[in-house]
Amino acid sequence: MKIAVIGCTHAGTAAVQEIMRTHPDAAVDVFERRGDISFLSCGIYLYLEGVVEDPTTLFYADAPGLAALGPNVRLFMRHDVLSIDAATHTLQVQNMQTQTTFAENYDKLIFCTGSYPVVPPVQGVSLPRVLMCKNYDDAIAIKESAKDAETIAVIGGGYIGVELAEAYSHTGHKVILINGVHGLLSHYVDDELAGVIAADLKAHQVEVVLDEVALKFDSDETHVYVRTDKGEHQADLAVVCTGFQPMTELLDDQVKMNPDRSIHVNDYMQTSDPDIYAAGDTVAVHYNPTGRDAYAPLATNAVRQGKLAGINVFGNKVKYMGTQATSALRLYDKTMACTGMTLKRARNHGFEADTVTLTDNYRPEFMPTTAPVTMALVWDKESRQILGAQLYSSYDIAQSANLLSVMIQNRNTIDDLAYVDMLFNPNYDKPWNYLNLLGQAAVAEADRQNKR
Ligand SMILES: Cc1cc2nc3c(=O)[nH]c(=O)nc-3n(C[C@H](O)[C@H](O)[C@H](O)COP(=O)(O)OP(=O)(O)OC[C@H]3O[C@@H](n4cnc5c(N)ncnc54)[C@H](O)[C@@H]3O)c2cc1C
Repeated sequence: MKIAVIGCTHAGTAAVQEIMRTHPDAAVDVFERRGDISFLSCGIYLYLEGVVEDPTTLFYADAPGLAALGPNVRLFMRHDVLSIDAATHTLQVQNMQTQTTFAENYDKLIFCTGSYPVVPPVQGVSLPRVLMCKNYDDAIAIKESAKDAETIAVIGGGYIGVELAEAYSHTGHKVILINGVHGLLSHYVDDELAGVIAADLKAHQVEVVLDEVALKFDSDETHVYVRTDKGEHQADLAVVCTGFQPMTELLDDQVKMNPDRSIHVNDYMQTSDPDIYAAGDTVAVHYNPTGRDAYAPLATNAVRQGKLAGINVFGNKVKYMGTQATSALRLYDKTMACTGMTLKRARNHGFEADTVTLTDNYRPEFMPTTAPVTMALVWDKESRQILGAQLYSSYDIAQSANLLSVMIQNRNTIDDLAYVDMLFNPNYDKPWNYLNLLGQAAVAEADRQNKR
């Protein structure tokens, strides 16, 4: 059997590594447009602020290493797949250096072409002082351009925009963070925490501009002008971070897709064409809080799905458990971690959802230090199932979001969270762990409403 893998960042790399682990003699053709594989974009802001000095350390695999995994692995780097004919199992491929094209066939295909940065319908987005933030080349270009810039405008207040704003506030730049909607990180946190996060950015001299939509970029020799629906901001460089969209054109009309153009896959990462598997930013995830498809482009999903595609391409064996799109970011000395749905998103999906917010120190006040943890829990009033959670603290609460993620996946209720067994040791927490207390606050709120 000959397997073709198109796209080799996280999903593609994971698929090839898994195939080689179990079938070291398998014939695998890997097609990748770029000259590198496995770049961790999550490290871009760390490179910009100088925590990571050498951006080449942000790769965890390379092409020769991948090719060396098996005698029948062929890596076509800087090769662009121009078209796929699923009916005849044929790819048209262009060697980007020589411009020559050739055909390759496959028995099974693993489609991992990832995503594009969303380019908003903004005029001037291709001006030289306006950059995107996705891959290694973008990282180098942004770092270089920022050297001569005093003021940097970051367009988009999702996690990438917030991370970049923080990074530039450490490097002596004046930062303007422009977000089209009112709440920063609106996919991850509700208004209360969004307000706290905006205040923390402002306290570090980031100019946070909310509810303002960028419409047009203009530039002259030294500046870029971001024109919005409310006014104009002058900067020396603008970085656009307004989200991602699946890169799925090659399979148009050949496999089932959702209206947002993400590919629908079954529990085994198999598309509606049984010989085509897909993984990573090209596909919709099975979003456990709703039980439906959702677009959640994350490296965590990409490596999981890539590995599963590498297993199931030999016969559907291991099911994908779905995701809660659990994620975290560091903001100055604090961590924001979240899982599942915000209240707003839950209500938009038709849940009769409720929320409670609680702040408590993570460990006893008699310890030399402690720190407040601000937490929000979202649940379904009818079933009492947990739908989402958000945490923010200078204490590292990242793993708590992982625990809540498992609870959402297992359909646990607020009552389960209130009483689930958690360790107590004053170094780490109070006799009631702060998550138990969050569960108890939710139960109290639900009881109060039921008594009305
Ligand atoms: C700045 C930034 C920070 C991030 N931080 C985090 C984080 O902290 N945590 C997290 O979980 N996720 C994070 N992500 C998201 C994560 O990087 C993506 O979800 C992940 O890269 C998806 O991997 P992928 O392999 O599916 O797709 P991609 O990374 O998009 O890779 C797809 C590959 O396919 C290749 N390709 C496309 N079309 C063709 C073609 N026709 N022929 C040949 N090759 C092709 C491309 O060149 C590319 O190498 C971040 C993303 C960015 C941009």
